Amino acid sequence: MAKAFKTLDDIGDVAGRRVLVREDLNVPMADGEVTDDTRLRATIPTVTELADKGAIVLVLAHFGRPKGERRPDMSLAMVTKPYSQVLGRPVRFIDWDGAEEAVATLRNGDIAVIENTRFFAGEEKNDPEMVTRLAALGDLYVNDAFSAAHRAHASTEGIAHALPAFAGRAMEAELDALEKALGTPRHPVAAVVGGAKVSTKLDVLKHLVGKVDHLIIGGGMANTFLAARGVNVGKSLCEHDLAGTAEAILDAADAAGCTVHLPYDVVVAKEFKANPETRTVNVHEVAADEMILDIGPAATEALADVLKTCKTLVWNGPLGAFETPPFDAATVSLARTAAALTKEGSLISVAGGGDTVAALNQAGVADDFTFVSTAGGAFLEWMEGKELPGVAALTR
Ligand code: ADP
Ligand code: MG
Repeated sequence: MAKAFKTLDDIGDVAGRRVLVREDLNVPMADGEVTDDTRLRATIPTVTELADKGAIVLVLAHFGRPKGERRPDMSLAMVTKPYSQVLGRPVRFIDWDGAEEAVATLRNGDIAVIENTRFFAGEEKNDPEMVTRLAALGDLYVNDAFSAAHRAHASTEGIAHALPAFAGRAMEAELDALEKALGTPRHPVAAVVGGAKVSTKLDVLKHLVGKVDHLIIGGGMANTFLAARGVNVGKSLCEHDLAGTAEAILDAADAAGCTVHLPYDVVVAKEFKANPETRTVNVHEVAADEMILDIGPAATEALADVLKTCKTLVWNGPLGAFETPPFDAATVSLARTAAALTKEGSLISVAGGGDTVAALNQAGVADDFTFVSTAGGAFLEWMEGKELPGVAALTR
């Protein structure tokens, strides 16, 4: 079946053609060293495939938030050497001054990183002049940066209308996984939504109740739902002012035939620190001076049973304050269940979110999920059911 968007399989003969490839090179750095090269590694399939086919590969990316100013401390020149090491190939750096001339000296199979697109205000404004400037450097455009696709910028959206546009391999894998998880998933579908606050994930919850069969709510946000149902949550993180919103979400779930799972046992402590004194109690037994910091073992086991009946899982947000032991127990346990079901072939599991990825790594199961998205904002906007401009621009 043809995909909704063109991929490198549709790009044709690229030998000698200048291909502008939008990647995410916005890596964390300390003292000139890249501290996490995940994003650099994610570019390897697309960039090497194009170079091996004889394309002149011109990588477009942003770095930091220079807000339209040329800032040496946010130059992609710093990333070029580590990037070259990750690719195992030479990488040229091309500054904006004389970019056209520099590109003209490149040969088939060469790879170059072009300076930070955000050195121009026109990038974030998706200004037509910026689009023209970028497009003039290449013959073809490939967007491989899902994590930047929620922004309608010149290098992520505008340029896709100015040149023949294709999804790169990482973008393709991400879109395929997301389609399997929420686009046209196999039912029953379960969603785990956790994290600190309901207020940051209202649109996610509203969208999911109409899409999934089981909505599993954990983390601090579960407290808001419990409180709305009359549970005394003590000193727990809780948005009491959102009680009405929580009730509306529960009603919408009811109307849509979505079963909402709230914890019925929880792990509480009087202090929020590593390894404090804890109690595991029924949600109705939380004392006034206690905080709910994780869901309990009985609830976790019941959720594992729910996952065993499901064919698809989408997960965003930890079930407890997982950075602080022992409040990672439920997240680690349920993540391992999901990983085991995925390995057995009974579950398609897709997860995303900064803290969620950290929690899955902590559980040692990130590689066992079907797909783990490292895109923060773009992943959440997709979970909200929003159209991502960078993706929409690639649609056939
Ligand atoms: P993600 O980055 O995956 O989208 P969030 O940022 O929404 O996830 O939420 C992660 C945060 O939620 C973590 O810092 C975690 O400690 C916090 N959290 C989870 N459960 C609780 C809880 N019961 N009380 C306080 N904080 C919690
Ligand atoms: Mg977070």
